[in-house]
Amino acid sequence: MKHLITIVAMSLTLTVTAQNTFSHKSKNAEVILLSEGQRVSNLNNLIGLTPEIIAEVAPDKTFPGATNAFLIRSGGKNILIDTGHGRELFNNLKAFGVSPQDIDVILITHLHGDHIGGLVKEGVRTFPKAGLYLSKKEFESASENALKIINQYSQDMVLFDPGIDSPERVYEGVKSMACYGHTPGHTAFIIDDLVIWGDLTHAMAVQMPYPNIAITYDTDPEMAIKSRLKMLDYIVQNRLKAAGMHIPYPGIGSVKANDKGGFVFEPAYFK
Ligand SMILES: [Zn+2]
Repeated sequence: MKHLITIVAMSLTLTVTAQNTFSHKSKNAEVILLSEGQRVSNLNNLIGLTPEIIAEVAPDKTFPGATNAFLIRSGGKNILIDTGHGRELFNNLKAFGVSPQDIDVILITHLHGDHIGGLVKEGVRTFPKAGLYLSKKEFESASENALKIINQYSQDMVLFDPGIDSPERVYEGVKSMACYGHTPGHTAFIIDDLVIWGDLTHAMAVQMPYPNIAITYDTDPEMAIKSRLKMLDYIVQNRLKAAGMHIPYPGIGSVKANDKGGFVFEPAYFK
């Protein structure tokens, strides 16, 4: 309750820029939230809910959501993890003095429109100098629409196999780990002690305490659940922090196990 009051008080005083971005410093990098927006969603697309779970975690039958991308500044490079829809992205980058030409590399968690929309504007490539990194499995399962977008980067595309049980280096300062299920090649990225987990969750308020709840957007809901449990355990065991593309503002925080086989997310904001 104390946190709720804090949120209300803060949201009245924060500027729009402050709500769209959030800076987190790790050992060798600055990780910046680039928010495309916050929203409230209903429960219609969640799979496996029971009346008891709804009463406990979503009594008003909604959950808070968001769409995020992240900018990593590390070793003199500007690295994007996903590009959101491309609505607020360019203004948010500008707020940090970063222009599209300054982006060296873009790492993509998966090929849904809310993650690759910012790669093109009216069919034309938006980041002229950026290499585009994508898991092989995700590329092999790309839809025609996704191909139209990523083919703008075909000369600068790098396909990789993410780590399966432990992270594998994918780019200077960035490691990757497979999180298959939401899409066939869905991939998480790790910078220092921070896991940027893409769409490992869509409904934090529900899927952290009850990670067995899936969503109809998952290509393979069973596999998505397995990946979620595996990654959340990995994060807790290794005392890592987490950021995600659908975690409400500030999109970054820490994860703990609760005593019922679920998890608790503590936003970095309150630290
Ligand atoms: Zn998404």
